Amino acid sequence: MKLVYEGKAKRVYEGPEPGRVRMEFKDSATAFNGQKRAEIAGKGVVNAAVSARLFQWLGDQGVETHYLATVDDRQLDVEQLTMIGLEVVVRNRVAGSLHQRTGLAEGTPIAIPVVEFYYKNDALGDPLLNDDHIRLLGLASPDLVARLKQEALRINQLLSAFFQDRQLILVDFKLEFGWNPNGELKLGDEISPDTCRLWDEATHERLDKDRFRRDMGGVEDAYQEIYRRVMA
Ligand code: ADP
Ligand code: UDP
Repeated sequence: MKLVYEGKAKRVYEGPEPGRVRMEFKDSATAFNGQKRAEIAGKGVVNAAVSARLFQWLGDQGVETHYLATVDDRQLDVEQLTMIGLEVVVRNRVAGSLHQRTGLAEGTPIAIPVVEFYYKNDALGDPLLNDDHIRLLGLASPDLVARLKQEALRINQLLSAFFQDRQLILVDFKLEFGWNPNGELKLGDEISPDTCRLWDEATHERLDKDRFRRDMGGVEDAYQEIYRRVMA
């Protein structure tokens, strides 16, 4: 199949039919805008399975996603989307860049979830944007920004409950949206331990990519633990 894009974590192939693409999940991991790189054994398999499970489950709850079918243990077929050039981040607890920007202690619960938009632009290091910046760049209209925020908050409610049932705290996560060939807004990309912070409810042990970002060890085991709990 024709490779149309190779990113840091996935390869995207032209689909078996027009309007479809095949996403292949790699074991490669990057952090800090690509400055840190490694292979995490089995990560691609975990991220493909977890993403498929979450897209299917969100679909059952009425969320429009790009997911179509699982091809094998690393490949999913999805609707081809024209991606909106924004990363939508939702936060239920302080961590990562919010901790760095505000000085609030990591783990501080956030009563009303915080939604942030980042510019998908590797050359600029994916900077944080406000509504006016998004308008200035022509990335989305104010109406679309409001819609993306509402949709991200609904997905947050659903996913938080899904993970809570599995003794996991959904600390924060990143979503990407796009338009399918029929002009419908769909949730795209992936939902995985690469794109979510997930803490064990009892111990607050980090079971996500932070183990890699911070050289905490036990990276492979953390991904396998998420696989076990999500697929159970
Ligand atoms: P990056 O581009 O950040 O290195 P990846 O390695 O995950 O990230 O590459 C996957 C690329 O595919 C991303 O640019 C993402 O926006 C894009 N993408 C995700 N879902 C779809 C889709 N359904 N159709 C087309 N492109 C998609
Ligand atoms: N995130 C992501 N891709 C990015 C940046 C962030 O999936 O390019 C996710 C990250 O895993 C976390 C959330 O978005 O769950 C918030 O990340 P943060 O802004 O704290 O950035 P970080 O310091 O982790 O890069």
